Amino acid sequence: MGTPVRHFTATTPDGQEFTVNIERDFRYDPYRDFLVCAHCDWSPSLLTMKKIVDMAGEHLASVHGADQGLSQQDNEAFRKAGLIMLPIVAVLLVVLFVCLQNL
Ligand SMILES: [Zn+2]
Repeated sequence: MGTPVRHFTATTPDGQEFTVNIERDFRYDPYRDFLVCAHCDWSPSLLTMKKIVDMAGEHLASVHGADQGLSQQDNEAFRKAGLIMLPIVAVLLVVLFVCLQNL
């Protein structure tokens, strides 16, 4: 349903990797982020004072036994989409500026 924007991964002592994703749902305004485990139905409320990385790490360690090498990384596709959008916005601003000056 949502677009994965960030991944938290950790490995078990025998090298199996587990992932928890942050998924962003743009159907809401403003958008909402959800924490979703890729391996079970775990999807906690984010209305908490806990840090998301702590929640993800705790879940990976306690439920899946993956308590080693917790890391987080941005979703590549999502990051690239942001990089493409930036120049487009810049060009639009320049066009707008030129138009205003010609009025
Ligand atoms: Zn899980």
